[in-house]
Amino acid sequence: MTSVVNEDRQAIRDAVRSLCKSFPDTYWRDLDKRDEYPQDFVNALTSSGYLAVLIPEEYGGAGLGVTEAGIILEEINRSGGNPGACHAQMYTMGTLLRHGSEEQKRRYLPQIAKGELRLQAFAVTEPNAGSDTTRIETRAVRKGDRYIVNGQKIFISRAKQSDLMLLLARTTPYNEVKDKTQGISVFVVDMRNVKGNLQIQPLDMMVNHHTNTIFFEDVEIPVSNLIGEEGKGFRYIIDGWNAERILVASEAIGDGRWFVDRASAYARDRVVFGRPIGANQGVQFPIAQAYAHVEAADLMRFDAAAKFDRGEKCGAEANMAKLLASEASWEAANVCLNTYGGYGFARDYDVERKFRETRLFTVAPVNNNLILAFLGQNVLKMPKSY
Ligand SMILES: Cc1cc2nc3c(=O)[nH]c(=O)nc-3n(C[C@H](O)[C@H](O)[C@H](O)COP(=O)(O)OP(=O)(O)OC[C@H]3O[C@@H](n4cnc5c(N)ncnc54)[C@H](O)[C@@H]3O)c2cc1C
Repeated sequence: MTSVVNEDRQAIRDAVRSLCKSFPDTYWRDLDKRDEYPQDFVNALTSSGYLAVLIPEEYGGAGLGVTEAGIILEEINRSGGNPGACHAQMYTMGTLLRHGSEEQKRRYLPQIAKGELRLQAFAVTEPNAGSDTTRIETRAVRKGDRYIVNGQKIFISRAKQSDLMLLLARTTPYNEVKDKTQGISVFVVDMRNVKGNLQIQPLDMMVNHHTNTIFFEDVEIPVSNLIGEEGKGFRYIIDGWNAERILVASEAIGDGRWFVDRASAYARDRVVFGRPIGANQGVQFPIAQAYAHVEAADLMRFDAAAKFDRGEKCGAEANMAKLLASEASWEAANVCLNTYGGYGFARDYDVERKFRETRLFTVAPVNNNLILAFLGQNVLKMPKSY
């Protein structure tokens, strides 16, 4: 756990905090009201190199670990911001890094690191499959040197703000494979010059994530954009899930700290019945309890991140970090809203915006029920429910 006080990591924290000062509450509040994309913030994060921390130095990135990437996201959330506009570039990078060919990495990673190309979209979820990813129906059929894709994806964030999209599609139908995890492939879709009909339709969502339904009609993908081997894509995606869960946990911890900071500050200042509301144990104890839960989740996050960065197995820790951090941030959100009373509902205080934003972490990118099922079945060896 000493890694968290390491000087370099503190320097990253300080630098991200300083960058975030240029994007105060009013910036995020205004964008949220207008449902607009934080382009200036994403530009600043890209030009400072923070979005490319996970890209190895040989491809123009910083070559740092998930620990450092998590610290960056945590600080953005803690500042009151929302890295949901760009975090996928960190989440999805691993699939290309670990399983892409050398040619694919040279083609894309240096440009992504420079900010000339955006890899912000990751298309997995489908209306008929939901959490059961092996049931996806979007088909990619090989015809010569191309794959022809037909199907539909739902809840795909940032597709309109990205040049590239990672796509999970079935290359062999579900009922033709012995193992349901086989026959699924990952592609890089270059959305700048798509052949075929790719329709991106924005969804009206509770959070400002620029989320869409996407329809594929005879969309052509060159064979050179298949990542790794055909049919093995589910494994590749699973490999990236641990990093994703650790990064989501980091964002939730950032939110949790924001809520605890705001709630305790408000409780110290707000005077009702002639004394600060924070003097009442009914107000003070829930804040202290939420603080303890956020700090405990933080330990699990750093344990998972350290294991991940050392190349050790960390499925249990990454899942527990995501579960505990998302629950802790949601608890802190409720406590903060209660502490603010009616003002918690007023947009000018930002609590209601962060409240909506942090609620997402218990649901996406994976629901906490599925995390519990992973722990129950894979770690504790109880019977499978699916
Ligand atoms: C704002 C937002 C952004 C998103 N961005 C993306 C994106 O960029 N790319 C992408 O691919 N997806 C994205 N998603 C989709 C997200 O990953 C899914 O919503 C999530 O994985 C859950 O799938 P579902 O909504 O189909 O729920 P369902 O699978 O329909 O589940 C509904 C409920 O049933 C529960 N449930 C289902 N099966 C079981 C079981 N066996 N045991 C116990 N409980 C069960 C679930 O836990 C959940 O509570 C986004 C979602 C949101 C809300």
